[in-house]
Amino acid sequence: MSAVMEAVAKDRQAGLDYDAIVIGAGMSGLYQLIKLRQLGMKARVFEAGTGVGGTWYWNRYPGCRFDSESYSYGYSFDKDLLKEWHWTEHFAPQPETERYLNLVADKYDLRRDIQFQARVKAAQWDEKSRSWTVALEDGSTHKTRFLITAIGALSAPTMPQFPGIADFKGQSFHTGLWPKEKVDFTGKRVAVIGTGASGVQTIQEVAKTAKELVVFQRTPNWCAPLHNGKISAEEMAEIRTRYDQIFKRCEETFSCFLHTPDPRNTFDVSAEEREAFLEKLYSEKGFGIWVGNFKDLLTNRAANDEVSRFIANKIRQRVKNPKVAEMLIPKNHGFGTRRVPLETFYFEVYNQPNVKLVDSKATPIERITPTGIKTSDTEFEFDIIVYATGFDALRGAFDRIEFEGANGVTLKQLWQDGATSLVGMLQTGMPNMFMLLGPHTALGNIPRSIEFNVEWVSELLRYVQAKRITRVEPSQEALEKWMDHVMELAKGLLSMEVDSWMTGVNLNVSGKQKRIVARYTGSAPAYRAWANDMAAAGYAGITLD
Ligand code: NAP
Repeated sequence: MSAVMEAVAKDRQAGLDYDAIVIGAGMSGLYQLIKLRQLGMKARVFEAGTGVGGTWYWNRYPGCRFDSESYSYGYSFDKDLLKEWHWTEHFAPQPETERYLNLVADKYDLRRDIQFQARVKAAQWDEKSRSWTVALEDGSTHKTRFLITAIGALSAPTMPQFPGIADFKGQSFHTGLWPKEKVDFTGKRVAVIGTGASGVQTIQEVAKTAKELVVFQRTPNWCAPLHNGKISAEEMAEIRTRYDQIFKRCEETFSCFLHTPDPRNTFDVSAEEREAFLEKLYSEKGFGIWVGNFKDLLTNRAANDEVSRFIANKIRQRVKNPKVAEMLIPKNHGFGTRRVPLETFYFEVYNQPNVKLVDSKATPIERITPTGIKTSDTEFEFDIIVYATGFDALRGAFDRIEFEGANGVTLKQLWQDGATSLVGMLQTGMPNMFMLLGPHTALGNIPRSIEFNVEWVSELLRYVQAKRITRVEPSQEALEKWMDHVMELAKGLLSMEVDSWMTGVNLNVSGKQKRIVARYTGSAPAYRAWANDMAAAGYAGITLD
C-alpha cells in the first residue's frame, strides 16, 4: 500500500466520514473534486443549488455571458475536453457555460460525490480529532480531516434596503439568483436597478422586448464594447491548434487574460499615436481597452484622465440625447478604476423610445410600492423589477457560514478588522482549511486562478498525506508578511480612491461602507511565484504537524 493510501486508511479508522469536504460545486469545486479523487481521498462536495456550475448556475439573467474570451476561460487541464468542446461565441453566453460544466461533471462522473440542495451552515474545528465537523441547514453533520471552501468571490447577492420590497405585487428578481424558468419581458413595464456588469448585460437584453424599461442608475460605469461574434467550426478547429499558446499566454500576462498592459506609458507617444492606439483598443474584442492599455493607466492621474476623455467622447457619439450621454459618463472615478462592464450596443439602448434613465443619486429611490417604485420625485408603475445590485464580494460567502476554528475562535472574529489570508488560501487559526479564491488571491481571468489554487492545494495535500501530517496551519508571521505585501502593492493605485466591490465597499451591507484593500492587486505571475516559493521551501510559513 502506498504511503498516501495508508494515511487515508488511517483517517477512516479515526471515525472521519471524509478525508476532504468541499463547499461548492462551481468551477473550483468540480476541479477540486477531480483532484481529490486522483489523490485517492474520500471526498464529498456540498452544494446549495440543484446543479453544478456555481456562478454559471446562479447567474442566469438575460444576457449573462463571459467578458473573458471563451477559449481562455475553459479548464486547461483536460486535453481531450479541449479537443471535444466547441465554444460557439467568442464570449459564451451563460447557458453554454452551464452546459460545459455539466459535461465536465458527466465526463468525470462527479455527481455521485456531490450532495445538492445542501447549504453549509457552520463548520467547527475539533483539535482532539484534528477534524472539521460540517453542519448543513438540514441538520446533518459530517466529519472531515480537511475542509476546502470553493464558495466563490462574487456569490453572496445583496439586496438594497428599500422599504416595501416584499409588498411588490409584480415579479422581482436579483440577477445573481435568477430563476430557471424563462422570464418574458415582452410588452412588460420593467425596472432595472443597478448598472454594474450584471445590470449592463441585463439592460441590453431586456430593452429588446420590454414595452417600457426604466434604468435606475446610482453611479454610471465606464463601459466599453465587447465585440462578440460567433465561432465557426473552422475557426474553432484553428483555435484548438493554439490552445497550448493560449494558456501559456494566460500564464504570463498580468491578470491571466489574453491581454496585458502595453509596455508604454500614455505620454511616451504623440497625441496622434495615442488616439490611434485607443481607437484600435476600442475596436477590438474583450478587455484590451482595460487591461491591455498603456501601463500607467491605473497609476497616473493625467494618463487616466486622457483615456477617460477618449471613452467619454465615445459615449457622447453613441448617445443621441446630450443630457442622457452626460448622465452615462462617470464623473467621480476614472476609466478602469472600477470593473469595466463590456457591452454590446448598451449606450444605443438609451436612444430607444421605450428606455428611460433615472439618476438615482439626484432622485433617490424612497420605497418599493405594491405597484412599482417611488423616487423622491416620481411614482413609477412596473410589472417586473430586476435588482442588479451586486454581491457582498470576496468575503461575503464566508460571512454566511459560521466557521469556528482553533480555540473556539471564529473566522468572523479573526476577520473583524478585515479579511486576511496567506496567499489567499490559508488562514491562521483555521487549521486544515483551504480557501479557493479566498481573500487576496489573484483574481483576473478567474478559471486560470482557480486552476492554480486547486493544483497548489492538491499538491499540499499530496505532501501532507505522504508525510502522514494531520494538521496544517499557516503561521501568523507568514500571514502578516503576505498581508504587508498585499497592502504595499495597493499603494498609489487610482482604484483605491474609488468605492466598489474591489475596495470592499457595499452600501447595502452594514459595516462595509469603508474602503479597504480587499484584493490582491499585483500580477498573477508574482502571486504564483510567492505561493510556489513557499511550496518549494517545504511549505515555508506553514506549520505541518
Ligand atoms: P456591481 O458591480 O456591484 O453593481 C451593482 C450595481 O447596483 C451598481 O450600479 C450599484 O450602484 C447598484 N446598486 C446597489 N445597491 C443600490 C441601491 N441601494 N440603490 C441604487 N443602486 C444600487 O455588481 P454586478 O453588476 O453584479 O457585478 C459584480 C461583479 O461580478 C462585476 O464587477 C464582475 O466582476 C462580475 N460580473 C462579471 C460578468 C462577466 O464576466 N461578464 C458579468 C456580471 C458580473 P453604485 O455603483 O452606486 O454602488
